[in-house]
Amino acid sequence: MIDLKDFEVWLVTGSQDLYGEQALSEVLDHAKSVAAGLAESDGMPVRVILKPVVTTPEAILRVCQAANNEPACIGLVTWMHTFSPAKMWIAGLQALGKPLVHLHTQFNRDIPWATIDMDFMNTNQSAHGGREFGFLCSRMRLPRKVIVGHWQDPRVHRELAVWCRAAAARRDAQTAKIARIGDNMRDVSVTEGDKVAAQLKMGYTVNGYGVGDLVEYVESASAQAIDQLCAEYEDTYDVAGELLAGGARRESLREAARIELGLRAFLTAGPFVGFTDTFENLHGLKQLPGLPVQRLMNDGYGFGAEGDWKAAAMTRAAKVMASGLEGGTSFIEDYTYHLPPAGAGQDATCLGSHMLEVCPSIAAAKPSCEIHPLGIGGKDPPVRLVFCAPPGPAVNAALVDMGDRFRMVLSELEVIAPPEELEKLPVARALWKPLPDLQVAATAWIYAGGSHHPTFSQALTVEHFEDYAEMSGIEFLAIGADTRLRDFKNIIRWNDATGAY
Ligand code: MN
Repeated sequence: MIDLKDFEVWLVTGSQDLYGEQALSEVLDHAKSVAAGLAESDGMPVRVILKPVVTTPEAILRVCQAANNEPACIGLVTWMHTFSPAKMWIAGLQALGKPLVHLHTQFNRDIPWATIDMDFMNTNQSAHGGREFGFLCSRMRLPRKVIVGHWQDPRVHRELAVWCRAAAARRDAQTAKIARIGDNMRDVSVTEGDKVAAQLKMGYTVNGYGVGDLVEYVESASAQAIDQLCAEYEDTYDVAGELLAGGARRESLREAARIELGLRAFLTAGPFVGFTDTFENLHGLKQLPGLPVQRLMNDGYGFGAEGDWKAAAMTRAAKVMASGLEGGTSFIEDYTYHLPPAGAGQDATCLGSHMLEVCPSIAAAKPSCEIHPLGIGGKDPPVRLVFCAPPGPAVNAALVDMGDRFRMVLSELEVIAPPEELEKLPVARALWKPLPDLQVAATAWIYAGGSHHPTFSQALTVEHFEDYAEMSGIEFLAIGADTRLRDFKNIIRWNDATGAY
């Protein structure tokens, strides 16, 4: 449901009229090559559109206004090929409502040592053209990403691709609708927040719906559609014998299918890209949605349990950023710790999971489809997919409302295989060691006020979330291998003191 090729970024090349027609036609030729090179680069997730070389305030304002008005355009890639006196850019950049990346590159990779003359110097002066543009952006306090390097360098392509993915998520959020089915889990603090402030910052709108609004859709699912969906479950997962046709709990699987069909129809009608539910508000549903939520997340919907709409929106943003990448992305919860004593030869780890709702995109192998009782909610036992995430690098990212601003907290992780089979555990899970270790990472996360409902991703890196936070104007605190607690606490204090967000 998410195709990033629907989106485009515009390459806008800055110069000035001082150089004359011939030089500007050379600039345009170079810009054509750069646009084509970026468009064809490995991993470029969106289309790259070349725009004319701009040399006047009028042309700059026009292209920025056009970018605002083009729904497919998710951001501007600006390159100062030559010197582009930056006061020309003020009106345009003031008008620009889309993310901005400053590609600080130069057409020629190498200095031709034996032949370099002033003509070469004058057509390859990004080194100071980019600094003039950089000053103006800093003077305007513009959120943006600066990427430095040759335009054919794969590292530059990677950095730009990351930014494009974040810009796509930003674009998606501008019109995203999140359905909050039921309220949040009573008395929980971190799942609360200012929905107006969230819309002002991130763009998405969150509205509440009674569970009865969903139940109407669930009840209208046809028996034939339910049977078809059960057959799809049997093709896709290892379905437990008691859930198969003739099995003792077959009706529970059919009920899960009924809920999935209802949820899909409800979300399509919205149309919503994310949703929440809560086990305290299930009137009219026979079981807490487990399998249906897992499968909807797998299709790109954002989800937050217990009414956690910030988690739903965050997971949706991550789904957009991760579209087409290897590795899965899921709503998850820091569930339980393994805290071996020093010298035991094992690292402290965290087992991440939830009552039911973990996305099978992070499954290392074919999930099993099972049914087990659930101690809370007072409903029938829910059907769920059970699996384990594969080893490898990952991140957890959560958005919290600090009252005066939103804060994104990110933790870099190493997912590891559980040392033993978890035969009795009836839920999907991932076992991870946070970097640099659990003690430092959990301490920092708790000082930062990070929630217990992060978005977990084995497809995305710290840079994706950093870029997304930057373009959304959100505070960003990352915890990783080089985190030192004293410094981290000071960053929190400084950000509190400066009021920069
Ligand atoms: Mn939870």
